[in-house]
Amino acid sequence: MTSILEGGCACGKLRYRLASGPMFVHCCHCRDCQRQTGNAFVLNALIETDRVELVSGETQAIEVPTDSGRPHAIWRCAACKVAVWSHYGGIQKLSFVRVGTLDEPSRLTPDVHIYTRSKLPWVALPPGVPAFEAYYDSKKLWPPESLERRKAIFG
Ligand SMILES: [Zn+2]
Ligand SMILES: [Zn+2]
Repeated sequence: MTSILEGGCACGKLRYRLASGPMFVHCCHCRDCQRQTGNAFVLNALIETDRVELVSGETQAIEVPTDSGRPHAIWRCAACKVAVWSHYGGIQKLSFVRVGTLDEPSRLTPDVHIYTRSKLPWVALPPGVPAFEAYYDSKKLWPPESLERRKAIFG
């Protein structure tokens, strides 16, 4: 990644910068993501939380109910409440940054489509990108350098 990925909320108070490219990018078609975004799917860039630098503004974490019952905190701009990233399963060290909040969201494309069992029927998946009915095995799909980074988080 040659230039830095930056993004922010709708009101402009919250700005963030990613210290590197993400480990992996999910396009999630699950019902939780559909409900939480009001959309067909969500795009999440998975990155170490210590590589997500808050440049300005304040965040507010809000716990949301999930189908699985596992914790999910959505981090929002404290002013305009736009969601910028999430922590799933109570894992603080791993952030799921919402790709749509990047200044140039076109710079990241999904590495995998997940929970396609609830994909809206009119969404056509691109050929050549792995897709799974539910979740997947990151050990089989992630590039080695991303797996190394993942290992540094989870030990
Ligand atoms: Zn805002
Ligand atoms: Zn989802």
